[in-house]
Amino acid sequence: MSVVIPSPGKVIEELLEAYPEKTRKQRAKHFEVNDAEKQATGKCAIKSNIKSRPGVMTVRGCAYAGSKGVVWGPIKDMIHISHGPIGCGQYSWATRRNYQNGVLGVSSFGAMQITSDFQETDIVFGGDKKLEQICREIVELFPLVKGISIQSECPVGLIGDDIDAVAKKMTKELGIPVVPVACEGFRGVSQSLGHHIANDAIRDHVMGKGDLPESGPYDVSIIGDYNIGGDAWASRILLEEMGLRVISQWSGDGTLNELMIGHRSRLNLIHCYRSMNYICTTMEEQYGIPWYGVQLFRSLQNHRQPARHCRPL
Ligand code: SF4
Repeated sequence: MSVVIPSPGKVIEELLEAYPEKTRKQRAKHFEVNDAEKQATGKCAIKSNIKSRPGVMTVRGCAYAGSKGVVWGPIKDMIHISHGPIGCGQYSWATRRNYQNGVLGVSSFGAMQITSDFQETDIVFGGDKKLEQICREIVELFPLVKGISIQSECPVGLIGDDIDAVAKKMTKELGIPVVPVACEGFRGVSQSLGHHIANDAIRDHVMGKGDLPESGPYDVSIIGDYNIGGDAWASRILLEEMGLRVISQWSGDGTLNELMIGHRSRLNLIHCYRSMNYICTTMEEQYGIPWYGVQLFRSLQNHRQPARHCRPL
């Protein structure tokens, strides 16, 4: 018996048929047949950074999810506080694959979920004191932690808690970087703005703060690779086999120190162009680091095609 496999276009049509007209129209923007030619030109017709109707196959995250889950979550030797009510922290706990090497509780803290678990009194009187106490407890419980980030959830922004002041005070008191990240979920229509807020916080509070004892002519950084499928690991192996030395991964399986010394790279290799191109431009302007767009996986599939968004040195 032969099995007839419907074309992808037909499958999409049948899927959409189930919806009333208005919903069908909105949801159609989120489906597209995978077209190698379109991909090769860098054109993707799927609309992703727009408001979507919640439901099957059109779920989306929030700015907090983009910051905590994608950019800060992979920085393994820090603890990232989900600051606000318990739900955001609970649902973002280990749902994103922040793959990390290291020993849990010693050099890697990614599986820890620390939240300020806001209650009604915190909403009424503010959560600053509680946040300070959490920072102190983190250092007491995990003395090897290298830094803390504060990931704000919606209510924190709504009540106007001053996380910047807490972070400043705690950095001084605890002697490790405590970074405020105002990534409240309501700030954007998708996770995307959360990526930018998170990367801005790294730029403003972390970048350029460390030094590299010995630098070499082949020192490079991988920028915008969040190791979501273990891809930063594969990229690093490939680059090091070419003879380059990867001194920093921003931020997949990365460390705080790697982000602090990233400005000593001789070349930035950017993987996720959309979330990080402006960071590369900033590093080029501030530190004179040239950058180049790489797409190692596509390059492996068809190494004759130029990498998307590549920029000549
Ligand atoms: S939108 Fe706000 S409340 Fe909802 S998960 Fe994101 S941060 Fe939490």
